[in-house]
Amino acid sequence: FTSKLPDVGTSIFSVMTQLAQDHEAINLAQGFPDYDPPQPLLEALARHVLTPGHQQYAPMPGLPRLREAISQQTALRYGYTPDPATEITVTSGATEGLYAVMAAVVRPGDEVLLLEPAYDLYAPAVRLQGGVPVYVPLSAPDFRPDWDRVAAALSPRTRLVLINSPHNPTGAVLSADDLDTLAGLLRDTDTLLLSDEVYEHMVFDGAQHNSVSAYPELRARAFVLSSFGKTYHATGWKVGYCLAPPTLTAELRRVHQFITFSVSTPTQHALADVVPDAALYETLPAFYQQKRDLLRELLAPTGFELLPSGGGYFQVAGFGALAPGLDDRTFTRRLTQESGVAVVPLSAFYHDGHDAQLVRFCFAKTEETLRAAAARLTGLQ
Ligand code: PMP
Ligand code: GLN
Repeated sequence: FTSKLPDVGTSIFSVMTQLAQDHEAINLAQGFPDYDPPQPLLEALARHVLTPGHQQYAPMPGLPRLREAISQQTALRYGYTPDPATEITVTSGATEGLYAVMAAVVRPGDEVLLLEPAYDLYAPAVRLQGGVPVYVPLSAPDFRPDWDRVAAALSPRTRLVLINSPHNPTGAVLSADDLDTLAGLLRDTDTLLLSDEVYEHMVFDGAQHNSVSAYPELRARAFVLSSFGKTYHATGWKVGYCLAPPTLTAELRRVHQFITFSVSTPTQHALADVVPDAALYETLPAFYQQKRDLLRELLAPTGFELLPSGGGYFQVAGFGALAPGLDDRTFTRRLTQESGVAVVPLSAFYHDGHDAQLVRFCFAKTEETLRAAAARLTGLQ
């Protein structure tokens, strides 16, 4: 049997979560909150689960009332009102959205430009379409794109450029200048853009999230993805959405209908009840910044070297001073087994296993969890 992805093992998030469970370690590896969604959302789900008629297939592109709510929120935040009928598709998490975009637009031999480190599904999804990932490195400590290198990597075969801000795993955030520069690079090309914005509500230190949705020139060629899992602390619900102009949305839906057809009906109804209330979104930057600050404060005396984190769920840290010369996978395995804290080795986000002795901590955890983890990490030096 010839595998289509012979070099791909089990996702690092599953591996580290399993290892954490096996060793009763605190799981700061996989990116998910250890607190629950807002009570009104849980109550809404309970209501809709008990509502006769809400248990069958939803419309293929998503419930109209949820798409309407997404449209209104997008208008409020980014000054652009996507048409719910032709520009919004509800997906089974951003994961399915990402995969469906790749399947819809990447043809055999097409190049897809990825900035590395990159979220683990991007490259396999490209390769499964016969596409060729082209990697442009982001450099520590701030992991900002070097647009000259991006320009040099673009070619007439570049079908798609993928950006992710706030960035997983580094917490880097794209600026308005970054998006203007990218718009200039893509002008007069047929290259499409995929913007993974699942952490759009988690931008710190007074900075703004610069959504591609707010840039008319870019959004005319873009798929913009978001995830209710991140925004509502409900990663297990697997509901996200994709915004794209009508021609691109039509292509996306051609594929989405055959990957999953439609997304779970009661969860969509529950989200449609709460999405119109924008109050939550305003609290999220401070909520997550407080967690980032607490984790940084707790890690400061442990010997980890903290890199900047401007947004998202994650803090990257160097462990070179704690374990000179050790590779990051061995370090994370030992940290899980011996210290009882699971984190993710950054080499898992590189196609060639690039290892700079960095690990990723998830701070989407309660204060209690973060303090308990830090207590286990003191005395490492
Ligand atoms: N993109 C990025 C950058 C992510 O971090 C994640 C989830 N961790 C996803 C996509 C997938 O989102 P979802 O859980 O909605 O499928
Ligand atoms: N996106 C999450 C992370 O980066 C994990 C999602 C998953 O387990 N597939 O940790």
